[in-house]
Amino acid sequence: MTQPHLTSRRTFLGQTAAAAAALMVTGPAIAQTRPRVVVIGGGFGGVSCARTLHALDGKLDVTLVEPNRTFTACPMSNEVIAGDRAIEAQQFGYDKVVAGGVKMATKAATKIDAAARSVGLADGTTLAYDRLVLSPGIDLRFDALQGYDEAAAARMPHAWKAGEQTLLLRRQLEAMDDGGLVVISVPANPYRCPPGPYERASLIGHYLKTKKPRSKLIILDSKDAFSKQRLFLQAWQELYPGLVEWVGLSHGGKVTSVDAATNTLVTEFDKHKAAVANVLPPQRAGQIAAIAGVTDRSGWCPIDPVTFESKQVPNIHVIGDACIAGGMPKSAFSANAQAKACASAVVSLLAGAAPAAPKLINTCYSLVAPDYGISIAGVYQPKNGLLTDVEGAGGTSPLEATLTFRNQEAVYARSWFDTITGEVFG
Ligand SMILES: Cc1cc2nc3c(=O)[nH]c(=O)nc-3n(C[C@H](O)[C@H](O)[C@H](O)COP(=O)(O)OP(=O)(O)OC[C@H]3O[C@@H](n4cnc5c(N)ncnc54)[C@H](O)[C@@H]3O)c2cc1C
Repeated sequence: MTQPHLTSRRTFLGQTAAAAAALMVTGPAIAQTRPRVVVIGGGFGGVSCARTLHALDGKLDVTLVEPNRTFTACPMSNEVIAGDRAIEAQQFGYDKVVAGGVKMATKAATKIDAAARSVGLADGTTLAYDRLVLSPGIDLRFDALQGYDEAAAARMPHAWKAGEQTLLLRRQLEAMDDGGLVVISVPANPYRCPPGPYERASLIGHYLKTKKPRSKLIILDSKDAFSKQRLFLQAWQELYPGLVEWVGLSHGGKVTSVDAATNTLVTEFDKHKAAVANVLPPQRAGQIAAIAGVTDRSGWCPIDPVTFESKQVPNIHVIGDACIAGGMPKSAFSANAQAKACASAVVSLLAGAAPAAPKLINTCYSLVAPDYGISIAGVYQPKNGLLTDVEGAGGTSPLEATLTFRNQEAVYARSWFDTITGEVFG
């Protein structure tokens, strides 16, 4: 990955000198010799991108913008909800990111002026950039499901951003009487972590089976097909018969409104009064993407699949959950892979070189029980303006597998988490 930068260093220096001469007409972005890259979002995509940029070219001025001092990771947070993991195991600081040479602004980005190439921060200061990378993750669409707003989320948690919401859902499950009804509502695609709701249903199912066996869990789904479906359905039949029930779109699974006062979820055919309701509302790219003007009508960000540069605003790149990555799912693994490809492209672009087309990999593990894992993998490449599946690559865990195999995949799931968080934050 360092190759494009090294081979084009001379060209880059030549261009910088030429650009300096044209300073008055080309604006402040070219005024300094160290190109400035600002990265917004200190999660899986943003941190990976900032660190890769710095590793590829130590002369870049890289600033990471993130308001929180601690990042709480979503992968494995379903284990926290099921009571098998402490929230502290999900939390990571930025000390090593800063020690590694990335500058950090511990503030929220509130404004973006694409013409002036500057980012406004919550304290009123601004950061100038030559290239800007956005990895703000998701926002919940509190306007999209009737009855579900921020106040309702305090009663019917989404727990789709890890932290206090994760703990709230855990506390509700602990407080629930044996024999209670847990309902999870799942939105239509696209949303963060396609298999995540079904992993959550599985691990809550495990908790109920072992601690509150007279209880029941219903998944109300806005679609008829989902990631690793046959594997999940088979495993629920095997592990949680009569306890976990999935209701797809064509059987009335789509939740059309909720009533937080009574913990009721309303579908086209039915009403479900839950003891614990976990409502996953429709989502969109984090708000700063809309402020930057890089979202389209879907609420997500169209990008060039080679460089991750916005199709709408030049010099702004979008990676991770916020971008429209074609066949690539919204996962931490994807965000990390996209971050590296984007960093490489940004370094090439700043050096005036042509970015190389990436091949990107994603693997998602899901725990169906603490010692029972399943997985899906895919390989993606740019084609016809999108990231598309490389045919014949990837696949899921086999339907027929021994318990030892499933157990091994659960081990892989946890070691994947340790590996990626170690690489990103460690
Ligand atoms: C229950 C659950 C389980 C999951 N399990 C897996 C899994 O097993 N494997 C997997 O690969 N993925 C998993 N995911 C998905 C994964 O969490 C996301 O895909 C990943 O976090 C996306 O990375 P990102 O960089 O796009 O966003 P994030 O990691 O969410 O980072 C976004 C960051 O941007 C910051 N930010 C937002 N707006 C601003 C602003 N204006 N200024 C400054 N900073 C800002 C936020 O504070 C945040 O820190 C799971 C998700 C859930 C909900």
